[in-house]
Amino acid sequence: MTLLAGKVAIVTGASRGVGAAAALALAKAGASVMLGARDAARLAKVAADITASGGKAVSMACDMSDYAAVERLVAETEARLGPVDVLVNNAGVIEPIAPIWEADPAVWARNIEVNLVGCFNGVRAVLARMIAGGGGTIINVSSGAGVRPLEGWSAYSSGKAGLAMLTRAIALEAGDKNIRVYGFSPGTTDTDMQAAIRESGMNIISQIPREKLTPVEVPAQAIVYLATPAAADLSGKEVTLRDETFLARVGLS
Ligand code: NAP
Repeated sequence: MTLLAGKVAIVTGASRGVGAAAALALAKAGASVMLGARDAARLAKVAADITASGGKAVSMACDMSDYAAVERLVAETEARLGPVDVLVNNAGVIEPIAPIWEADPAVWARNIEVNLVGCFNGVRAVLARMIAGGGGTIINVSSGAGVRPLEGWSAYSSGKAGLAMLTRAIALEAGDKNIRVYGFSPGTTDTDMQAAIRESGMNIISQIPREKLTPVEVPAQAIVYLATPAAADLSGKEVTLRDETFLARVGLS
């Protein structure tokens, strides 16, 4: 599959979970991929696995809440792979999982710094370059929790709700500049984040047995679809794997 041949993608939070699977799927589709996250060793291992399977991948440690580090990630991507065509804003944290009256204020603020400010940082660092280069695609990995609150997830829900508004703001300001932008909700997927949620026992999502969770390859395939022009009519919208019409378009129904 060479749907994305010649394209350059950055995937944040690519050291594990949805991000690692998305990086592999994008590389299989022909893209050259920069993997970012904090854990340099895990990132290098994922990049090496992609390279071993015939894809092109490099990695760089980056804390998405640090704007200067995000600028360095984008500059390094351009230097090693070329101008960025696709940004997958996937890095995220669930903590704190606690009632509002018990949540640690510093951990609550950190959630917003990673899940919302971190995504802004990614967009801020690539957008002017994408516009100058003739266009690009941004995929903000969102969540159903951004639409409805769940007990114990006040920070996560608030950050993802803010991210959905950022998606709409990008579409408003840059949609006419050949920038496609999507909010993408992967649904309940089998990752470390879901393990932490199960362990908390906090709300209805924590009760979902692991075997009922979606494998990471499924949202990864949807992210590849969103990175292609075939998804263009959905730009500015939130899309979810819970939507049968979208699943059919991706070829997953
Ligand atoms: P995960 O397995 O916990 O992986 C999270 C990724 O984010 C890791 O690669 C982590 O790497 C990275 N990360 C965390 N903080 C970071 C920071 N400050 N800077 C850079 N990278 C950071 O989670 P996941 O389930 O794959 O989640 C991926 C995305 O999907 C998240 O945005 C999440 O909210 C969303 N989502 C997941 C589900 C689900 O059911 N799994 C459902 C809806 C939405 P390091 O620790 O190496 O930094």
